[in-house]
Amino acid sequence: MFFHVLTLFPEMIMEGLGTSILGRAMQKGCISAEAVNIRDYTTNKHQKVDDYTYGPGAGMLMQAQPVYDCVQAVLGQIAERREQTLHSENSGAELPEEAKKVRVVYVTPQGSVFDQKMAQEFAKEEDLVLLCGHYEGIDERVLEEVVTDYVSIGDYVLTGGELPAMVMVDAISRLVPGVLNNDESAVTDSFGNGLLEHPQYSRPQVWRDKEVPPVLLSGNHKLIEKWQLEESLKRTKERRPDLYEKWRAENDHC
Ligand code: SAM
Repeated sequence: MFFHVLTLFPEMIMEGLGTSILGRAMQKGCISAEAVNIRDYTTNKHQKVDDYTYGPGAGMLMQAQPVYDCVQAVLGQIAERREQTLHSENSGAELPEEAKKVRVVYVTPQGSVFDQKMAQEFAKEEDLVLLCGHYEGIDERVLEEVVTDYVSIGDYVLTGGELPAMVMVDAISRLVPGVLNNDESAVTDSFGNGLLEHPQYSRPQVWRDKEVPPVLLSGNHKLIEKWQLEESLKRTKERRPDLYEKWRAENDHC
């Protein structure tokens, strides 16, 4: 899967994504990420990308032209790469209309709130373009032209879209095959089955007089699974009653 993050601060993205699990996933080729500098596309001779908003209030806004040209350039490169792949696999064939579609996500506090279900949906894409705003945001006219999805990471306002874009890349990448060493953990983690995950323990068996629950040492897989589900339900009921009620409604035969 290819992530294309369009930003005024590319170094922030590449530093943030280049370490640990995601860094290794990029080296293995399971995912790839590029940070594209929107400023490189401005036609302003002073490299300006922002200007004052119309109307009362003196905020700065990212202008339409550099954002539009940057998105078009990235979409052009994606189309070219897809054409090349198609030709190397099946010479002479035309890229079908469906295969030309690319989702362009504007990260904004005004979007639908990002969750695990959305991450699963985005993980099916071959390419994902993430557009980061700054200052007061981006001129509405270019958003109308290029954006397919508006996504927020929560009901609060950050200074820029770089952290939200990184949050999305991280959550989506974990669901791409090969990124996690143990692919199963993406399924058993919180939200995988609509519940929070059960508590987990490692060595030593006793720490500050607290013991690992004996069932986990029993070797009885059926009993362990039963305990894990019970703990998962208990924890979800306590900490996220909204999720618990939803799970109950969908699983009321249990
Ligand atoms: N004026 C905008 C508003 O009131 O909706 C807020 C702009 S914010 C200061 C600057 C940029 O940060 C936004 O364009 C967006 O890309 C990003 N941003 C801020 N909060 C966000 C959130 N909760 N989720 C996603 N992106 C966010």
